Amino acid sequence: MKRPITPEEAAIIQWLLVHPDPGEPASAAGLTVSELCVVATCDCGCRSVDFVLDRTGERQVRDACSSFLDGVQGGVILWAIGDALAALEFYDLDEGASRRLPAVSELRTWEQLGSIR
Ligand SMILES: [Zn+2]
Repeated sequence: MKRPITPEEAAIIQWLLVHPDPGEPASAAGLTVSELCVVATCDCGCRSVDFVLDRTGERQVRDACSSFLDGVQGGVILWAIGDALAALEFYDLDEGASRRLPAVSELRTWEQLGSIR
């Protein structure tokens, strides 16, 4: 399956790119979100999407949190290979969180969220 990135996914990535954690590489600012195509999704039911078929050599460029209005929390990781985005990954902190796509207003940096880990 191959499909264009959705506006909701693009908005999440745009937010991630302008909300760096202090330790994250600044090079991610040069990554482009437009014209991204989703080439694979995850079988487990989570909302993670891949933009490349081969994720060899990818690095984590952003690591943030979705903090849903009902209190459920999940993690969001943006992966890249060189200057190309490789994947947008969602994972559970609370059960089921990764199956929900956060609104931009529900995204937090770990710093904003406080030290929960
Ligand atoms: Zn999954």
